[in-house]
Amino acid sequence: MTMDNADLRARVEQVVEETRTNFTLREKKLKTLLKEAERGEDIFVIGRINLLLAACYFTQGKRSGLLPHAVKAVDIFEKLENRNLLASSLNVLAISYAAQGNYARALELYNRTLLTIRGLKKPFLRRDVALSNIAESYYCLGEYQKSAHLMKQCIDTIRKKHPDDHVSAVIYSINLSDNYECMEEYEQALDILEKAKPDSEIIDLQVLVWGYYFRRCCVLYKLGNVEEAVKYADLGIDGVKQGYDSYEFHRDLEKIAKEQIKLGDYARAQILADILTEYADKNKHTIDLIVSKRVQARICQARGERDRALELYRELNILYERRMSENREMQYESHINAENASKEIGKLLQRIQISKERAQRDPLTGLKNRSALVSITNEFIDSAKEKGRTIGAVFMDIDYFKEFNDTYGHAAGDEAIKYVAHVCLDEETATVKFFRYGGDEYFGIVYGYRDEELEQLALRISQKVRASGFQHIKNPNGQMLTVSIGIVNLNMQDSEHTILDIINYADRTLYQAKEHGRNAVFSFCSVRDPKLAFKQIWDREK
Ligand code: GH3
Ligand code: MG
Repeated sequence: MTMDNADLRARVEQVVEETRTNFTLREKKLKTLLKEAERGEDIFVIGRINLLLAACYFTQGKRSGLLPHAVKAVDIFEKLENRNLLASSLNVLAISYAAQGNYARALELYNRTLLTIRGLKKPFLRRDVALSNIAESYYCLGEYQKSAHLMKQCIDTIRKKHPDDHVSAVIYSINLSDNYECMEEYEQALDILEKAKPDSEIIDLQVLVWGYYFRRCCVLYKLGNVEEAVKYADLGIDGVKQGYDSYEFHRDLEKIAKEQIKLGDYARAQILADILTEYADKNKHTIDLIVSKRVQARICQARGERDRALELYRELNILYERRMSENREMQYESHINAENASKEIGKLLQRIQISKERAQRDPLTGLKNRSALVSITNEFIDSAKEKGRTIGAVFMDIDYFKEFNDTYGHAAGDEAIKYVAHVCLDEETATVKFFRYGGDEYFGIVYGYRDEELEQLALRISQKVRASGFQHIKNPNGQMLTVSIGIVNLNMQDSEHTILDIINYADRTLYQAKEHGRNAVFSFCSVRDPKLAFKQIWDREK
């Protein structure tokens, strides 16, 4: 990670910190940072901003904008194998599908979320939250039994592990009681709400308190306890009149109105109809218009206002049609949006991959460069330490190369450098990797070789260079191009050796070969006989 990436990551967190209460500003600032991030190469920060933006859209109720960001965050954290952030991303993506009424797809994604956090010690997304989302999807699909079963687990978890989280306790209890009501188990439904009463009395979230009142009211009507039901209806209505969104509980408001109409309490039903109408007129959502008109139509019908009721039912039919085509359009659009977002992120990841690979290669020879050396060598070392294998290094340098340049020109020098690089590349396998270390210096890292194998490898390279056909009249060792090579081989079991030690030993061995007169292979192996550690064995080709 470069300094710039660290700086951008810090700025993202700073924006989050500064905009805790202003999501419009957060959205604006994050979008600017996202553009900057997409020009860079830090995939993590791109994923993080996309996840934050998705969550930001969700909080603001902008559901259509949410999906592409959630898809991108999922793709990125999947690639980075960051299970914690992947789970959070899958969760918001699922929410966006649920908001469109695509509960089957939402359910699938919520299940993946739950699987993703399985086994994590401290997941960002709590298990009970993931579970309650699954339960909610089952509820929306009409699978009340399954939903109730999971919701019960959520409540048990919260009572045991998060006894201070009264908000979640109330939400889960409201949902569970709704499930019981749908299964016509009204006593159970009331029992659950009764148990959550102390929680509802200490939470600050007013809108949830009203939701709790309405839920209680529904169940009480079902149980025939009209007096109590009316009491809770009025409590809830007093709250909602203060102008809060009723979206969270319009399902219950409609149920309550229905009961009141049945009992001839048209006045109360009318108040609920008015609240729903006011809300629907404000936000113009088709689903809210449907709910409010449906309640109004029922009241008119019950009151015997036949013409008005018929007119409302006609309007309702048009709204149902509209809702259906909206659903179709939304599903089509979200399919296209998700596909495009995935493609976009695929291209971005590819660009970053290519540019990273390019940044790790030396343009003249195509060999990996020093920055790749560190990461690959460290990977080899870690694995060798873990499995008790050997790590070998091959350090080589072209002999009298200054003179070669002086004699044949720089362009010819380049060709010689490329040739030696080719010889190295020819020897590469999954466990042998070569790098251009500097001007005419090459470094190879070798995993799991015995001393003899490593020496054979070095001798092969030395031989191939001599056979290159590059003349070098200033080279006293045969007047052809030659290299000097130093090799080391270390047993990494219980070893403290670092990458720097290995390079250092190899460099010292190469120096011996140069001192000895060049065109030589010197070995500095400790594997064959540990007692002979660092004793120099050499093999000079005449
Ligand atoms: P020695 O046998 O001790 O290694 O002698 P040397 O002349 O090879 O000395 P050294 O390795 O220090 O010199 C490396 C030379 O390689 C210096 C520089 O001009 C040349 N060189 C470095 N990079 C390139 C390159 O990309 N192309 C060409 N043509 N020459 C390069
Ligand atoms: Mg040299």
